[in-house]
Amino acid sequence: MYIAGRWVESEQGNTRQIVNPATGEVIAVVAEGGVADVQRAIREARRVFDETDWPEIPPVERARLLNALADRLEQRAEEFAILETLNCGKPLRESRFDVNDAVNCFRYYAGLINKPLGQTYQVADPMVTMVVREPIGVCGQIVPWNYPLLMAAWKLAPCLAAANTTVFKPAEVTPLTAIKLFEIIEEVGFPPGVANLVLGSGPVVGHELVDSDLVDKVAFTGGTATGRSIMQTASRNLKKISLELGGKSPNIIFADADFDTAVEFAMFGIFANQGQVCSAGSRLLVEDSIHDRFVEALVEFSKKIRVGNGMNEQTEMGPLITPAHLQKVLSYIELGKQEGADLVLGGNRITTGDYAKGNFVEPTIFINTTPEMRIVQEEIFGPVLVVQRFRDEEEAIRLANSTVYGLAGGVFTQDGAKAMRVIKRLRAGITWINTYHPTYNEAPWGGYKQSGIGRELGTFGYEAYTEVKQINVNLKVEPLGWYNND
Ligand code: NAD
Repeated sequence: MYIAGRWVESEQGNTRQIVNPATGEVIAVVAEGGVADVQRAIREARRVFDETDWPEIPPVERARLLNALADRLEQRAEEFAILETLNCGKPLRESRFDVNDAVNCFRYYAGLINKPLGQTYQVADPMVTMVVREPIGVCGQIVPWNYPLLMAAWKLAPCLAAANTTVFKPAEVTPLTAIKLFEIIEEVGFPPGVANLVLGSGPVVGHELVDSDLVDKVAFTGGTATGRSIMQTASRNLKKISLELGGKSPNIIFADADFDTAVEFAMFGIFANQGQVCSAGSRLLVEDSIHDRFVEALVEFSKKIRVGNGMNEQTEMGPLITPAHLQKVLSYIELGKQEGADLVLGGNRITTGDYAKGNFVEPTIFINTTPEMRIVQEEIFGPVLVVQRFRDEEEAIRLANSTVYGLAGGVFTQDGAKAMRVIKRLRAGITWINTYHPTYNEAPWGGYKQSGIGRELGTFGYEAYTEVKQINVNLKVEPLGWYNND
């Protein structure tokens, strides 16, 4: 762990084995932090924010540090990509993509630092009001295991750009690229204690970050149930929270869509990163008139997806993150069958040969689902697609909006006006027309409804790490004359 500018073991000497999900092999042993460790990191982040000049260092210097970080990460891109695949299983080509995205995220926020975000008003004569943004203070940042490095970049880049200090906690099972990233943070010269890395479990280290009175803001990405408990804990001292949570996002295919494009994006929407994507297009809504032909093509192509060890360049889909998560996904598949949906592809763990050592499951597709089924309503977070059928635009929108989530959604049609009508009525924060999944550092990321609170990325993501202050300036310094002094 990296606390106060030093690499340290946990105070209690606890460790955790890190396992490659494709092979079951232990690939690293890391420190397992406890309450004492995270408290030390929090105190240090507090001290640096309150007692050093970090919050006031010139913006150009912060930008220089972030750009240097991006450059070093880019130089070591392949090493990071390999480590990411070994630790979380995703195919190497996806890991390479993530590293590149992370580099760009640091560069984007380096560039945003000295762009104008303030306001001034001539409110009344002789008053001027300025609105300025200031750092919030000490941030606790907690991320999941599905995009370990990219989630670290999304958290650390805007937080440090806005001159906060941080205690960052990766998911317990995927800390390796975060550890390497903090090596770079040290190397490029961030002052000790500005960015601290504490490893450990959610209920221990994560909970302490959320509960601590010394932390001003918690930024959390993870499951909706965890988000709910974090909001509850954080309410005790009303610290600021931002929550990026789960989803069950609709991908809507109209009959007039470009067929081949829609088929491929339907697959990409659910099978990228083995479906372990918060914004996955996990509900496919297909217009009646093309439903059977579409499903047939989808099954035909999805059958050919090359499942395997992500280190193999040919692999198109890797293993699930842990045996426990594999069991969760398999139990949802069982549930789907019990609920009466028809399984038209996959549904099994893959156990032939070397596959038996990893957490591999087949690309899986259910059709003939009904809206109230749990496999339609709940986030499975695996390569399991549920297909729903609709008759017209109205029904598509109604079905699309009928879960507690509101993270993302896509529409495929060649009718531009229809695409815009549907997207505008989708209750979701991230939407796509004739594509699915592309995500840009420039645009805000986050959900409606139970998919979260607040936005990351873009200028919104920067503002989320600032407090807003109004400064009212009297330009005519003389007594008010309000009280009668006679
Ligand atoms: P999770 O909620 O179990 O864990 C996420 C992180 O929170 C981990 O670091 C964990 O250690 C920590 N944590 C767990 N309990 C905690 C507690 N009580 N207090 C503080 N921290 C705690 O989620 P997961 O299984 O790791 O990740 C999958 C979930 O993340 C999915 O629901 C997915 O949709 C969501 N996700 C959302 C986004 C988004 O941007 N909206 C992005 C990626 C993943």
